[in-house]
Amino acid sequence: MKHRAITLVALAFALLLGLSGAAQAADKLKAVASFSILADMVRNVGGDRVDVTALVDPDGDAHVYEPTPADARNVAAAKILFVNGLGFEGWMDRLEKSSGFKGKLVVASKGVQPRQMVEAEGGKTEEITDPHAWQSLANGKLYVANIRDGLIAVDPDGKATYAANAAKYLGQITAEETAVQEALGKLPAERRKIITSHDAFGYFGAAYGLAVIAPEGVSTESEASAQDVAKIIRQIKAEKVPAVFMENIADHRLLDQISRETGAKIGGILYTDALSPPDGPADTYLDMFRHNVETLTAALSS
Ligand SMILES: [Zn+2]
Repeated sequence: MKHRAITLVALAFALLLGLSGAAQAADKLKAVASFSILADMVRNVGGDRVDVTALVDPDGDAHVYEPTPADARNVAAAKILFVNGLGFEGWMDRLEKSSGFKGKLVVASKGVQPRQMVEAEGGKTEEITDPHAWQSLANGKLYVANIRDGLIAVDPDGKATYAANAAKYLGQITAEETAVQEALGKLPAERRKIITSHDAFGYFGAAYGLAVIAPEGVSTESEASAQDVAKIIRQIKAEKVPAVFMENIADHRLLDQISRETGAKIGGILYTDALSPPDGPADTYLDMFRHNVETLTAALSS
């Protein structure tokens, strides 16, 4: 009998805890971020005050994403919506309008100096903005400042928390920036060349001194033409590019083919437009940089 009473007390206590947990979740500021990398940055700045949902999952391709009815419900319920901008999320305008979103929209890349790329498609050339600004840690710091200011605007009571979280996170990003520059700075000049399937490393290459070649251009929407692939194969052979890299979000077949035909080795998997799942090697923005730089230096220095 006594045992049973204890069980009931424990049960009631667990129920109370559960309820207060639910109440806390309900009290939190509801935020939506378009993709996993941005969601991680928002979590770092928002801390315990913010409940963050990512629309495009880890390992997902945001260029060609098709929003679901659940995404529309999440956006409708959000007080603040974070997007990359620079043309990355072509599907967002329609989702935002159809969901009836009434909150604050924050373009995380605001203030970034955009990279313009000229791409040839079907005999025509067009100028395209490269959206992958987060692949430079200097830009990442602009994202964090925009995230902080956006959160303070919708939740002024949390100002001190957001400012402190952002300051701590900015310090970590700066430390990682130094580590990346040191690690990549050791590579000999003639080995600072990488091939990936789509052109996600333009900002990375410009920031850290690597030449980047990608058959697919800055979006995964277009497929590389046979001429593009043949041209890259000639270029890899002529310039003796040491390695090609897979991406977590892209099909590996084209790179397998390029590797076979050129003898360039497969250098590993780089995380470009999405984080890894939580048990993977790149489940945060900073771990993505650590993983990518380790993978690049291992493949390019031997
Ligand atoms: Zn991309």
